[in-house]
Amino acid sequence: MELITTHINADFDSLASMIAASKLYPGAIMAFPGSWGDSLRRFMASPFYCWKVAKPQEVDLNQVTHLILVDTKKASRLGPFSQLIASNPALKIDVYDHHPLQPDDLKGEIEEVRPVGATVTILTRLINERAIPLAANEATVMIMGICEDTGFFSFPTTTPEDLEAAAYLLRCGADLNLASHFLKEELTLEQFEFLNDLLRSSERYCIKGTEMVIAILYKEKYMSELGTVVQRFMDMLKIDIIFALVKIGNHSSLIARSRFKGVDVGAVAGTFGGGGHPSAASATIRGMSLLEAREKLLSLLSEELSTTEEEVATPTFSAMGEIITRNPTLPTSQNLTSLMREQLPAELFAVIETISQTADGVPINAFLVGGFVRDLLLRIENVDLDVVVEGDGIQFAKTLAQKVEGSHKGFPQFHTAVVMFPQGFKVDIASARTEFYEVPAALPVVQEGSLRADLYRRDFTFNALAVRLNKPHFGELIDYFGGRRDLDEGIIRVLHNLSFIEDPTRLLRAIRFQQRFQFRMEENTRKLMREAVEKGILNLLSGTRLMNELRLIFEEEHPAVAIQTMAEFDILKFIYPHITYNQTMGRILDNVEKVISWYNLLYREPKPKLWLIYLMGLFEELSTSDREDGAERLNLPPKERQTLKAYPGEITTLINKLTKKREVKPSQIYSVLHRCRLEVLLYTMARAEQEAVKKAISLYLRHLSQVRLNISGDDLLKLGCSPGPLFNKILKKILLAKLDGQVSTPEEELEMAKKLIKS
Ligand code: ATP
Repeated sequence: MELITTHINADFDSLASMIAASKLYPGAIMAFPGSWGDSLRRFMASPFYCWKVAKPQEVDLNQVTHLILVDTKKASRLGPFSQLIASNPALKIDVYDHHPLQPDDLKGEIEEVRPVGATVTILTRLINERAIPLAANEATVMIMGICEDTGFFSFPTTTPEDLEAAAYLLRCGADLNLASHFLKEELTLEQFEFLNDLLRSSERYCIKGTEMVIAILYKEKYMSELGTVVQRFMDMLKIDIIFALVKIGNHSSLIARSRFKGVDVGAVAGTFGGGGHPSAASATIRGMSLLEAREKLLSLLSEELSTTEEEVATPTFSAMGEIITRNPTLPTSQNLTSLMREQLPAELFAVIETISQTADGVPINAFLVGGFVRDLLLRIENVDLDVVVEGDGIQFAKTLAQKVEGSHKGFPQFHTAVVMFPQGFKVDIASARTEFYEVPAALPVVQEGSLRADLYRRDFTFNALAVRLNKPHFGELIDYFGGRRDLDEGIIRVLHNLSFIEDPTRLLRAIRFQQRFQFRMEENTRKLMREAVEKGILNLLSGTRLMNELRLIFEEEHPAVAIQTMAEFDILKFIYPHITYNQTMGRILDNVEKVISWYNLLYREPKPKLWLIYLMGLFEELSTSDREDGAERLNLPPKERQTLKAYPGEITTLINKLTKKREVKPSQIYSVLHRCRLEVLLYTMARAEQEAVKKAISLYLRHLSQVRLNISGDDLLKLGCSPGPLFNKILKKILLAKLDGQVSTPEEELEMAKKLIKS
């Protein structure tokens, strides 16, 4: 029996080559030796797939006399079929492969091995030479193999022969659209998460003038198609060389890709015991940690890369991502000392000077950063100081707290601390990230400023400004990303193209800042927001994180505007899928804003939970079970879940009771409303169309809810009434009478109490 097989973890080139080989060996059976990748799985589950490829357990090994290997020539990659080689010395082997020759390769009677982009290219040529007819679907799957392995003819391993083979397959009726459909599959959410992790952990190195990216990732769960995501990452950020070191559970691996001829990642992976092509390779990492593997990589690459004129003695690294910000237009020497003196309370300026002196004393580089700097330039009051130090922030917090006789608390897992000054000011202190980068002994020299790396990880350009605190540069504005100009022009702009993927909460932060400052979103940022929403990345946020962001939005001055913007960006569905924004909802939310402003002017305690009122607005049209599910999605406390479940019914009852034909007395208003949550009352006021309802709630909140009796339980005791349910009944009756003006003085209240006790 003739058996055509390929390597474990089969890809499109493997399947394409098996199908092509079956044209050369018509009676042979095809079988996978093991697993196959997810995109292949998707293709095989589609209606376009119509071939029979057996599973390894379906093959009777005793019957196999002739083995046709495609896309591999390594026994170690044949899964259970490797037994054939050991057990049957008479086995005939033919090999069709495009991987570079290696000493432990299997030898074939027929050996068609050439360094072309895809193995199926070699087989296509043979089919063409022998004039074997191909059906259109066969040509299509074969062109898929070429497209995948050549990255749609973009990898440097692509050869003229691949293009010729593709041209031939197109003439046979291959459908490139189908290839594109299955190969350029959208990433799954899980893969997006991985992309996000990749971005966070990637660092750009420059070794002897060659730029490359190395990422170290620790994941808990196995994820297939890591290579696809790494490839997508390269495409998105236009990276030429990438090494991803990934540890999943106990298994560590290297995934390497290169579009640069000078770096053969196949050879690099070979030194780790793996293999592949010059442009795409992988290896299992054994006997070393990922950090050690990175050091091995760096020293290997330093040796391998030929020296260029731009030689850099040691690798340098910088934070990742494509800078899309404009260049700063203002000189970085702009000094904000006078602005701070003018703008800030003298006590706060003194605190800043103390931080500055402490930093000089250590010595350590310290900077004011983030929202404080933004608000200073916008001349908006903000007394929350955010400080970044290039060093140990927790130690610095301790020194500062000692100096000012304040207190401090460190958060070692985040390398941050907070210092409370005796005057009540709170200063957050963070350590610029690179200082705490976990490094093995042989640390590559970090040349990029760690402040810059820290600022680069922030959300928008106007939040990535810093003010130097060390003398003699005290007060100097640092603007790496053009944030000052964006602030002046009122523009919200992310720092790089993957910003929203890196952190989906930024979508909501952008909307929050837009309504707060009435800024506009820069065109590319807007586009990136739309793309991120389309990918569904907000689904990655836990209910609690999503709710935290919503809470911040709902506590702003104009949440109704922000909710409308959320609707424009199609974000409301991530709060709950069935929420639909319409004019009525918009009008009610506008009214909620007005009602809340009105209520704030009453200066009443307790303050309402604003977020709950806005959620009522968003949930109003949902069914009871959807409201319950929505509250669960946001991980709300039980009491608020109950409110969101019951409020529409409560409001209907309340409106019915307050809109009777005859006049409703104050005592009746009180009786209807005093059991309702403040949030429900405010929401009803915003939503009700009946003037009588609005007036009644207003009267209740302004006046009726504040009315108290002059007498108390003690007075009833003195009148001989013993404590019990009657006690409260009597007091309530007197209160209702008081609300209706039937009693007003303490004497009248006492008189009424006596009468009630008697009767
Ligand atoms: P607010 O004025 O509402 O308090 P803020 O930006 O001043 O907003 P925080 O939300 O505490 O205050 O954030 C402080 C700084 O941390 C921001 O200015 C920004 O530089 C950075 N930051 C906060 N959240 C993010 C995020 N999700 N992604 C990146 N950077 C962030």
